[in-house]
Amino acid sequence: MSHTAKETVESCGICHQPVNAVTDKTVTCSGSPGCGRCFHTLCADLNLTMWAALTSDDGLKWFCADCRRNNQPKQESAEVTLKDILARIDRLEAKVDLGYDKFHNSFAMTKSIITTTRSA
Ligand SMILES: [Zn+2]
Ligand SMILES: [Zn+2]
Repeated sequence: MSHTAKETVESCGICHQPVNAVTDKTVTCSGSPGCGRCFHTLCADLNLTMWAALTSDDGLKWFCADCRRNNQPKQESAEVTLKDILARIDRLEAKVDLGYDKFHNSFAMTKSIITTTRSA
């Protein structure tokens, strides 16, 4: 076995399986320093649309369930994040509006999921 110094295998914060940032669709938690864990998109309850939105812009932040729980007094920041994502989805939606009906539907579904979550 050869180990190179850079061989860092992260494991998903939920299923604890290895996360391959190249071949897997992953999200990284932007939570307090020390988290920054990687998650499989599906394990984190995000669909591919959310993943696309999150990975399309470095300014977008996503927080894992633990960090969200730890941040409860600051629920506003979660709201802002959701708003950001929605705004970003709107933009993506405009970009892919040229005939990708399936994609379009998936955007719409994501939006309704987010809206439902927010009003719950
Ligand atoms: Zn996982
Ligand atoms: Zn986290």
